[in-house]
Amino acid sequence: MRIGVLAVQGAFIEHEKMLEKLGATCVELRQKSDLVDIDGIVLPGGESTVQGQLLRKLDMLDTIREMIKNGTPVLATCAGLILLAEKLADDPLSHIATLPVTVKRNAYGRQLSSFNADADIKNIGTYPVVFIRAPYVADISDGVDVLATIDDHIVAVEYKNQIGLAFHPELTDDTRIHEYFLSKINK
Ligand code: GLN
Repeated sequence: MRIGVLAVQGAFIEHEKMLEKLGATCVELRQKSDLVDIDGIVLPGGESTVQGQLLRKLDMLDTIREMIKNGTPVLATCAGLILLAEKLADDPLSHIATLPVTVKRNAYGRQLSSFNADADIKNIGTYPVVFIRAPYVADISDGVDVLATIDDHIVAVEYKNQIGLAFHPELTDDTRIHEYFLSKINK
């Protein structure tokens, strides 16, 4: 199984290590020509504004959007969730915009900008969640499945082939979320 991990900016290496541990082959997505023969896409954390700019500059945005619309499974974490959201609460510019949710960036304020917690994640169980200047999902459209909430805020969603997480599963030793993503590809 070949997983394309967006590698223009952010925490992509940690995702690769985890996926390789689970037996997947990772391809770093750095230019448009890398977007071939991949069974799944990972959009890592980092800085969504920079990632969005680079995806436009490298002419990768439309191809990634089409692949996701055509059913390629995608796992998006933190900044990746922001890239995937159809709408952003405080910004008129969205990016890939295939996930029918509204995402609020840097949503926890300064004091709580980074924190760890345990979340109960649907289909997974109790899971250690790591938040770093994280967004949350402020609104969802019909058909979006809420996988987890923290303090009444939605922090994990699934919609068809798309999984969006406000936190960083790649920064834990717990591989269950990546396993769940790979199992979606096998289906
Ligand atoms: N705050 C970042 C953004 O808005 C996301 C942070 C992260 O990916 N850990 O893009």
